[in-house]
Amino acid sequence: MEETSFGMGNKRMTGPKLIDPYGTPPGADPRGSLQSITLDMDRTEGATVNRMKSTHLEPFPDPVLDVPDELSRSVIVSSVDYLLNWARKSSVFPLQSGLACCSFEMISAAMARFDLARFGMEALRASPRQADLLIVAGTLTWKMAVPLRRLYDQMAEPRWVISMGVCATSGGPYYQSYSVVPGVNHIMPVDVYVPGCPPRPDALLYGIMQLHDKIRLYSLTGQAAGQE
Ligand code: SF4
Repeated sequence: MEETSFGMGNKRMTGPKLIDPYGTPPGADPRGSLQSITLDMDRTEGATVNRMKSTHLEPFPDPVLDVPDELSRSVIVSSVDYLLNWARKSSVFPLQSGLACCSFEMISAAMARFDLARFGMEALRASPRQADLLIVAGTLTWKMAVPLRRLYDQMAEPRWVISMGVCATSGGPYYQSYSVVPGVNHIMPVDVYVPGCPPRPDALLYGIMQLHDKIRLYSLTGQAAGQE
């Protein structure tokens, strides 16, 4: 029987070549079953996920800001800060991303009844390069943590993160499960946590207002939000 190697990470074993149990239908890809075509890609992906699991054991510290002492800064810097922060908090662009059930509450928040447009946030962006807010809405699995971190890295600074729901915040009902991240703060710094399972859309709106208060405290002379 033809042999092939398989395994996760550095552990490689040999075994029988993967056979499509349903046979190759007429017109199918001559390279074989989808499973055998993507085997290398699956191995690489598995190794990447395992690497992330083994290196993200500790949470990032929460970016807590001190209330700036207005008198210690020049009038010009304070005024520019005020103007920039007002513009930023009035036009936060959220990234279009939803992970699980919580995302439906996030979508409701953008609909007519709750109306994210009141904050200038109705344009959910399809590209991380045009977004400065990542709302992690729902259960974050280790497999999804890799692309989510990549999206976060592609967002320009200053950038903010809201953890929506108990799953995103601590794993929730899947706490200590092998496949669920025990809190999105293991993957990226989180600015605001919205509790609930799921949080109602108005709870998300309250979380966004908390974020607005936080954005007001940033200063040109300090560290940009999301900078590590
Ligand atoms: S917190 Fe509750 S509603 Fe939200 S993703 Fe988890 S299980 Fe679903």
